[in-house]
Amino acid sequence: MNIHSAETTLSFSVGDIVLTKVVELVEHANPGVLYVDKTPNDFDPHLDWLQPNYVDADKAMRLSVHSFVLQTTHHTILVDTCIGNHKQGNTRFPQWNGRDGQYLDVLAAAGVAPEDVDFVLCTHMHSDHTGWNTRLKDGRWVPTFPNATYLFDRGEWQAWKDDDSETVRENILPILEAKQEQWVNGDLDIDGAVSLMPTPGHTPGHCSVVLKSNREQAVITGDMMIHPVQIAEPDWRQRGDSDKELAVNTRTQFINQHCDRDVLILGSHFDSPTGVHITSKHGEPRICY
Ligand SMILES: [Zn+2]
Repeated sequence: MNIHSAETTLSFSVGDIVLTKVVELVEHANPGVLYVDKTPNDFDPHLDWLQPNYVDADKAMRLSVHSFVLQTTHHTILVDTCIGNHKQGNTRFPQWNGRDGQYLDVLAAAGVAPEDVDFVLCTHMHSDHTGWNTRLKDGRWVPTFPNATYLFDRGEWQAWKDDDSETVRENILPILEAKQEQWVNGDLDIDGAVSLMPTPGHTPGHCSVVLKSNREQAVITGDMMIHPVQIAEPDWRQRGDSDKELAVNTRTQFINQHCDRDVLILGSHFDSPTGVHITSKHGEPRICY
């Protein structure tokens, strides 16, 4: 697996919401890392649109780890907080442990200081979506965003609260100790522009994030699908899905519901272009930009 630092930003808008994609890193990985029983040759039917942006010349997946900053008229919202620095809880991806990256500098370059963030919203509680919830200060994990309310799904926490993992200790418990959490049950509404769509399967309380403004609409997927190939192959089962059959059902239903609709799909691990539309050209869902 290759990592190259791609700490960059990209900004665009959905109606009046300004979005900025803040990239922590991009990895190149064999599909067997992510998918049950898949090899590089399984990409062959889709290479015409997967290469070069999503699959490299060696048929390895390009996977981006990034956050989305959403700026509504009233609030700054950070969706997913990537991997973080100095973490030790990455058991499946040990190359993510002990990082010393420049994520906060990239965020600052996008015009966002930690103090500016009003809400942190995690699609689920895996280590690559909660890492920058906290940072190490004087040997203790403290909230990275001192003025933020951290929005956690109550059902997701039910699945993790008895988990004695480094990720929970490093990324979640310090937020609860600081009393900066707010529990949601799929009932989130920020400024009439940002809400949640339950998309269970990857984890029990996994949620995607729905953006609506001025008749424009977008959905941030989270890990309901990790790589764009799953738009065409929704039944590729992800190793990391806690309930693989439910995840396939959720993904298939999502793709059918959003096919040929004017909804921008923002992949939480899609390398650029990160925003795509799902179309049914040639009889199967595929991507257009
Ligand atoms: Zn992820």
